Amino acid sequence: MNSWPVVLFFTLLGASLGSFLNVVAGRSVAGTPWWGGSRSQCPRCGAVLGWRDLVPVLSWMVLRGRCRYCGGRIAFRYVAAEICGAAMGGVLAWRWGLSVALFFSMVTAFGLFLNALTDLEEGYIFDIFPLAMGICGIVLRLLPEGGSLLDGLYGAAAGFAIIAVIILLSGGGMGWGDATLTAGAGMILGWKLTLLTLYLGFMAGGVFSVALLAAGKLRRKDAVPLVPFLAVGGVLTLLFGPWILSLLNVDPGQPWR
Ligand SMILES: [Zn+2]
Repeated sequence: MNSWPVVLFFTLLGASLGSFLNVVAGRSVAGTPWWGGSRSQCPRCGAVLGWRDLVPVLSWMVLRGRCRYCGGRIAFRYVAAEICGAAMGGVLAWRWGLSVALFFSMVTAFGLFLNALTDLEEGYIFDIFPLAMGICGIVLRLLPEGGSLLDGLYGAAAGFAIIAVIILLSGGGMGWGDATLTAGAGMILGWKLTLLTLYLGFMAGGVFSVALLAAGKLRRKDAVPLVPFLAVGGVLTLLFGPWILSLLNVDPGQPWR
């Protein structure tokens, strides 16, 4: 089902994707273009970074978290994004092996990850990213092993509708970006795994919020960003969803069988 070279490859790919999406998120929030053109620079001294500065995780360790040129501290979020990406790529490759499901799960996990970064940084979901996920979902579902298009459409509709109801009932806290993102992910996940993602995401968010409230680090009125928890729920679902559903005698549907 899986082989170590595949797991290793996707771990390294995940680290690079984590690094890249961190830049995409940062540039989206800053309103600068991220497609080609400008090279990565040290935000402190402006030195253009070479490949030796950009190897995921390793560069940070070799440089001991400091810029080679000015000695300024490199923000931990860079290496955190790389470690998160490596972990997601590795465990998803371990779970799914080289398969269509692996590609579905990578698009879902890294799509949610990118939106979690912009949500954390700016409290904002850029419409283009959920839209891109939805289009990926449609394309993937047209593949012979991709399951039914209808399952994806139900997933998108269910994801959007549930968040929409919460927005309308609560009148705050969540935004329409959360609804479009859940729709985009739902297109890839299908309706059963979408419901499980929302359930696990809300559970994770609830546990985290109660812990922060108890520790006095959060006031009752503070808004907690949803997408990081949606991402946690999504990754847990991609890893354990089919197994959880099997306990309930529910078929997850293709490509998640
Ligand atoms: Zn520097």
